[in-house]
Parts: sequence; structure tokens; C-alpha cells
Amino acid sequence: MPARKELPTIDELKSNCTMNLYGCWLWNGAVANGYASLRRGGEHYKGHRLAYELAKGYLPANILLRHRCNRKNCINPDHLIVGTQSENAQDHFRAHPPEGGVHRSGNGYRGKITIDGSTLRML
Ligand SMILES: [Zn+2]
Repeated sequence: MPARKELPTIDELKSNCTMNLYGCWLWNGAVANGYASLRRGGEHYKGHRLAYELAKGYLPANILLRHRCNRKNCINPDHLIVGTQSENAQDHFRAHPPEGGVHRSGNGYRGKITIDGSTLRML
């Protein structure tokens, strides 16, 4: 995490969004895998995670954020809920350890896990 001053404020993020009837803040900037994406201080951020942290506080990297509105490019912190899917997945892995273990790449929260040929992505 770069110095706080390099990060946008929640209002700056919001000003780069289009609001819809459901209260979504739909990101107008770059998108990666459907999610709002932005770059500050040489680092990439997922817009919804950044918005959540700015609005509600620190979000550990291994905690999943889900969109209640099912719009990946929405960054309204009030449309985001933490954890449930990740917790479910972790319960599943404890009960059924995946062959070859859990593979994690650089940033620690993006992983890919294969179970019986079906792939589950943790974002
Ligand atoms: Zn939304």
C-alpha cells in the first residue's frame, strides 16, 4: 500500500462512476476481468476493494469481497459483502483437500484451485 496521499478518496472514485437506479457505482475507468481496475503509486488496485477499504477500513488480502448487486464493475461499498464465499470454500478445502494443494500467486489473494477437474477461482 503506497502512502495514503497517493490513493484517491472515495469521492474521487465515485466521481469516476456512473450511478444506476439500483445505487450501483459503475466504474467508467479501466476494467480487468470485469472488475474496476486502477493504478496508483506503481501498484494495481481492484476498484471495489479499494473503495471498500476507503469507506469501511482495512480489508485483509485473503478476504473475498462479493457484490450483492452481481455487477463486478460496481464499487459501491454498500453493495459489497465480505467473506462468505471464501469461508465456504475454505470449509470445503478442509473437508476435501485439493490434489496438489493451493496455488497462490504474487499478490497473495488471487489463487486458482483445482478440484476434481473443476476450477474455482479466488479473487
Ligand atoms: Zn452495485
